[in-house]
Parts: sequence; structure tokens; C-alpha cells
Amino acid sequence: MTPTPSRILDVSGAGRPFGAVRRPRRGFAALRGIQGARRMVQTSALALVAAIAINRALAAASGPAATSPEAVCPFGGLETLATFLTTGAFVPHVHAANVVLAAAVLLLAVLARGAFCGWVCPLGFLQDLMAGAGAAVQRRVPAAHRAMRALRAKARPLAILDRPLRLAKYAVLAWALWGTAALGVMVFRDADPWIALLDIGTASAGFGAAVLAVTVVGALFVDRPWCRYACPLGAANGLLARLSPVRPERSESACVNCNLCTRSCPMGIDVAKAAKVTSPDCIGCLECVEACPRAGALELHVGLPIGAQA
Ligand code: SF4
Ligand code: SF4
Repeated sequence: MTPTPSRILDVSGAGRPFGAVRRPRRGFAALRGIQGARRMVQTSALALVAAIAINRALAAASGPAATSPEAVCPFGGLETLATFLTTGAFVPHVHAANVVLAAAVLLLAVLARGAFCGWVCPLGFLQDLMAGAGAAVQRRVPAAHRAMRALRAKARPLAILDRPLRLAKYAVLAWALWGTAALGVMVFRDADPWIALLDIGTASAGFGAAVLAVTVVGALFVDRPWCRYACPLGAANGLLARLSPVRPERSESACVNCNLCTRSCPMGIDVAKAAKVTSPDCIGCLECVEACPRAGALELHVGLPIGAQA
């Protein structure tokens, strides 16, 4: 049996027969291929945000900051949408650049299944880095590994909260959009860890800095906690991603039920049980596709979004 013609990305190695075992990339080899490209994009976006934050900190030290941190916030563009559509004006702190950024991010969500979150967002990357650092420490320090295993066993009953808590991000999205439209100010701004990240070197970080700290520390214990439970931009991306024609698809005939795809998914999606991954939580990172050891068992496909399975 050969892979279906709708396959658009084969990271399993050219020429490898369908179903053949492929070796995982390790060390420097892991920096090549699709995940290497993803890490480069994420690093560039984080470097850009770091440069803006340093610039703002230096400017704040010598007087009022010249630029607003919202200038690079796509969610600001979404928040102002109702005001912009009804009055033609922007809410305070928001500019035309934010609307352009928001449109680009939402278009990317449709075209590439929420890929902004998985490939670009510096806050998402920070959480990935924390998870990677935590895993590296556990590999090298047996006591840390044992402590984490014990903690996981104790926290297992809390797993039933995972599904309902994932709905919280839609409530945050509704609150941020409705509140901004009704009150004419960005109601989410003070709690926004994105803004806190850009303002990290200034004295004005406030409550958002606490949210950022909880997010970054929380990522040591749960993969991407902000993206899973609270991010309003991720919620909007996820809703639009349901229209996306691309998704990872699993072939029953090549799959050996090793569960590596499920274990590698930073958003906790049970890939090994899905025929097509259409969850609104999928951030298009392709970690699952790269982790799969069988050629042709799990690949990125393109097709009509209707009739797909979660
Ligand atoms: S299902 Fe795959 S592509 Fe989607 S978030 Fe999980 S690992 Fe990434
Ligand atoms: S990684 Fe997932 S899709 Fe690939 S063989 Fe294992 S269970 Fe099947």
C-alpha cells in the first residue's frame, strides 16, 4: 500500500518504503529538517521581542518610552476590530499595524492550522524552552526525575480537569473582545503576558508579569499551559483552524500503536487514537509527525476540512 496522494509533507526520509522503521534524529541532526526550521523561526521571533524589550528598557531608563509594546501584538488588532468596524477608529494603544498583524495571524491559522502558535509565538517558544530545560535536568539528575514522577502520580486525579479547563481560553477571548468593544479600552491588557514580556525591563509590567511568571514556571510541569488553557489569541486561531485544509493524518495500516506521537504532542492531543487531527488545540508544530517511527504512518495531508475527525 502506498501513501495517499494528498500527502504534502514527508519528514520520514525520502525513498523509505511505506511502514519502514525510521530512526529519530538526535544531537545536531535534530536541528536539520522541519523541527530545525521551526526552531530557527521561533528563535528569530524571540530575538526580535528581546530586542524590542531591551530597547524599551533603555528608553524607559532615560525618560518615557517612545514606542508602545502593543505595536507588535496581533491580539491588539483583534481587540480593536469591533471599534474599528463600527467607528473607523482604534482603541487606545492600538494602530493599523496591529490590525494587519492580526489579519496575517488569522489567515495563517486557516492556511496552516494555527501555525503562528507552534512556529512563531515567542511566548509559546518560551514555554517549549522551559519544558525542554526541565526534561534535560530530569535526564541528568535522577533525584529530579524521581521527584517529578512522584509529583505526576500525585497529580494524576487532576487530569479530569484538563478538558474543562481548555474551554477557559474561549471565555478569556469572549471577555477580551466584548470588554474592549463595550468599554473602549483593552480590558485584557493588564493581564497580558505578551505585554509583560515586552515590558520586562521596565517598571510597568504589573499583573501581566505575574501571569508570565506563572506561565513560565508552570511549563516545567505542564506543556504549554498558557496555550492550552488561557490564550485568547490561541482560542481565535483554534476556531479558525477548524477551516484549515491541512492536518496530520494517521494510517491504520502503517501505525504500530507505539504512542510516540501522543507523547510528543505539546498540546496533549491523543494523536495515536485519531485518524485525522482536527482538534482546535493543534498548533501545527508537527512534533507528532517527526516523532513517528514508521514511514507513512503519520503525515501532513491536505483535504477538505468538512467531515474530518477530531
Ligand atoms: S497534534 Fe501534532 S501538529 Fe498538532 S499540536 Fe500535537 S504534535 Fe503538534
Ligand atoms: S507514532 Fe503514532 S502514528 Fe506513528 S506508529 Fe506510533 S502510534 Fe502510530
